[in-house]
Amino acid sequence: MLLLAHPAGHSLSPLMHGAAFRALGLNATYEAVDVAPADLAAAVARLAEPPFLGANVTVPHKEAVAPLMNELTPAAQAVGAVNTIVRRDHRLVGHNTDGEGFLRALSELAPFAALQPADAGRGAAPDLTGRTCLVLGAGGAARAVVHSLLAAGAAVKVLNRNEARAARLVEDLQRVDADERRLTVCAASDLPAQLSHIDLLVNSTSVGMSGGPEPESLPLLEGSQLALLPPAAVVVDLVYRPALTPLLRAASQRGLVVQNGLPMLVWQGALAFEAWTGSAAPVEVMREAAERGLAGRPA
Ligand code: NAD
Repeated sequence: MLLLAHPAGHSLSPLMHGAAFRALGLNATYEAVDVAPADLAAAVARLAEPPFLGANVTVPHKEAVAPLMNELTPAAQAVGAVNTIVRRDHRLVGHNTDGEGFLRALSELAPFAALQPADAGRGAAPDLTGRTCLVLGAGGAARAVVHSLLAAGAAVKVLNRNEARAARLVEDLQRVDADERRLTVCAASDLPAQLSHIDLLVNSTSVGMSGGPEPESLPLLEGSQLALLPPAAVVVDLVYRPALTPLLRAASQRGLVVQNGLPMLVWQGALAFEAWTGSAAPVEVMREAAERGLAGRPA
């Protein structure tokens, strides 16, 4: 298995998948490779032949790889991006497990675990009908998260630094979801009035990420505005480096339930593992490997 990235340095995925292969006694390997954009098509073409079962795809290739697939799953088609490639004979199927991974992670939190359908297994997506979510950001991760929240029944508002980009995301995903009233742009000026109606706030910008554009800042809102959220609101940050981002620190100081991006990373990987191998992923093994890697501890 390969991870197609550029650069390929910091990923936790080789650790997670290596641990999962070992735990299940599978004779497979997972390696991050640095692929420049100009070399992407050739790297993808090689995946169509054994010994590859497939690959993961990450920054900056997730969108560019989609037209190179023989087939896209409905989620990958809707989001317009692929994070997992599965080889079926000589055909490549593009999946996007980020959105489903996000929902599985959400269901680890007590307020959402209670919303899992009664007959669903562990990690099943919660039913978010009647809930309102505010997604900050309008990049690739935001698209996957918004798509999955809509699929789970939630109403979603999207706030982005560049409002035209948020409007494009809304327009694209409204084409997929028939109920247009459930997905709207949130203007920056409207934020204070909206916050009191939000059940779930999700940061899908790269603000707060160490090494990112503004590691010490909160994304698109002031810390004091978190007081406008209902006391039962949940705050999720897709960033996991550092484990407690400025947003999560401010939200937990206000007593809100918070989650960083590590559970989503683990679940998107577990779903990819299942798509490649057909075996149930050893999720806790993968989580421990990711936590060890993040803490800089040896395997
Ligand atoms: P992207 O480049 O496609 O989008 C970045 C977003 O951040 C855009 O909406 C942009 O407007 C916003 N942004 C950037 N700088 C900003 C600033 N200074 N102020 C306000 N907004 C700003 O990136 P992406 O692939 O969508 O990833 C976004 C974040 O989500 C990254 O931190 C990434 O690591 C994280 N992520 C986590 C997981 C996971 O599994 N936990 C999966 C995917 C992405």
